[in-house]
Amino acid sequence: MPFVVVITGIPGVGKSTITRIAMKRASAKFRLLNFGDLMFEEAVKAGLVNHRDEMRKLDLTTQKLLQLKAARKIAEIAEKEPVLLDTHCTVKTPLGYLLGLPEDVVKTINPNFVVIIEAFPSEILGRRLRDLKRDRDVETEEQIKRHQDLNRAAAIVYAMYSNALIKIIENHEDKGLEEAVEELVKILNLAVREYD
Ligand code: AMP
Ligand code: MG
Repeated sequence: MPFVVVITGIPGVGKSTITRIAMKRASAKFRLLNFGDLMFEEAVKAGLVNHRDEMRKLDLTTQKLLQLKAARKIAEIAEKEPVLLDTHCTVKTPLGYLLGLPEDVVKTINPNFVVIIEAFPSEILGRRLRDLKRDRDVETEEQIKRHQDLNRAAAIVYAMYSNALIKIIENHEDKGLEEAVEELVKILNLAVREYD
């Protein structure tokens, strides 16, 4: 049976860092897929964007089409090996929040876990200010809180349409990282039983 762990968290929460360390420590070998990368590949092929941070500004129909293409590729890969999918519960577009895993997409991927990495809005703001590589939207702590609240609500819907359990992992400044990694490793180790 495919084993897919979806890992989410708003930009700047430390998702990539936790994922990288947890993958090295896990006893199961995971294929790390980035939903944004898969969408970006298709978007570039179609001549739609030059930078990944332009994708959330594309028209909705195009974004949904790119999502579904990415989902099909992910499902195909998950037939052969455990997949760790780095993505977002919701994406903030100029017109409103877009569901990261709408019904057709979440049913195609059928995740076993939806992990949400969270931190305090003040911590996230600080991390965003230190990351100059990305074209991040400038947000207030209030907006960050609202986005995190919405992501929990979205995760409920994803669990409804799949086999997913929801796991919330906190990543705080003082010793949070080590505990967060441990919690993710526990989930990844469940994959050992799945592909034999
Ligand atoms: P990231 O590098 O994870 O911040 O993702 C880059 C971009 O990919 C995001 O800003 C979105 O435009 C897009 N993206 C990633 N995951 C999804 C998703 N599940 N649904 C729609 N767009 C996504
Ligand atoms: Mg990232």
